[in-house]
Amino acid sequence: SYDNLAGRTAIVTGAASGMGAATARLLAAHGARVALLARRTDRLDDLAAKITADGGQALAVTTDVTAPASVRAAAARVRETFGGADLVVNAAGVMLPNPVAAGRSDEWARMIDTNLSGALHVIDAFRADLAAAGAAHRPADLVNISSIGAHLSFPDYAVYGATKAALTHLSEILRTEFGPLGVRVTNIEPGLTGTELGDHIDNVSLAAQLDGMHAAIPALTSEDVADLIAFTVTRPARVNLRQLIVLPTAQS
Ligand code: NDP
Repeated sequence: SYDNLAGRTAIVTGAASGMGAATARLLAAHGARVALLARRTDRLDDLAAKITADGGQALAVTTDVTAPASVRAAAARVRETFGGADLVVNAAGVMLPNPVAAGRSDEWARMIDTNLSGALHVIDAFRADLAAAGAAHRPADLVNISSIGAHLSFPDYAVYGATKAALTHLSEILRTEFGPLGVRVTNIEPGLTGTELGDHIDNVSLAAQLDGMHAAIPALTSEDVADLIAFTVTRPARVNLRQLIVLPTAQS
């Protein structure tokens, strides 16, 4: 069980849907105060209302992780409402596959700015909070959601895969900086998961290919990934699960 989440303050980016929303719900159900960060205010408000109705504590903070000022404002708002954060989950992400030869520099920028730079802006805005928790010998966690795409040579996913490989490597090296401060860094690499991630694909055949994968194998659910995150952050403070790869059983 996850009974030592009470009293913790969690930041979850990408909380408007999918893994971020499921993670926020699960952490809140076990007593954590959760700040919900994403761009769609209506989604965040709905989720905050659900969590509150279930007896939890949630704060919706409309945030664009690609904009450092937006992330800094969110951090200030969380601090004044809940105090410092001791658990940060970077789940915000976008996946926009296309051949590199399509020259979609607009998509490259969105993926790099969200999946890599966005995570960095969030880390920067909350690192002092995490370090303060670590220094006080309280559990402190940074969880980054990368992807099995960091390792696969999936055709037409070159830029997405590159942002995820960068996030995986960032997590690994950042751990050597944060670990001595008492802050655990965990990188999670899920495989196919049923979420809204594919809804933004504008390449018709690649959207159909992803639909075909979902039709062929039972994907993970957002709740499966949330469960792993809750498990990871409730281990004794000396235990750092550094890297988790989780795939649907039928995904090769
Ligand atoms: P979703 O699309 O459901 O969730 C992504 C979330 O990111 C949304 O809530 C979205 O909310 C938010 N987001 C996107 N851009 C921004 C931004 N600029 N600022 C703030 N929030 C933003 O998909 P998933 O739950 O699947 O994605 C979660 C993570 O898991 C992503 O990093 C994804 O790459 C990764 N992943 C997903 C897999 C899958 O098969 N689904 C497999 C492996 C990894 P809003 O639009 O309101 O901002």
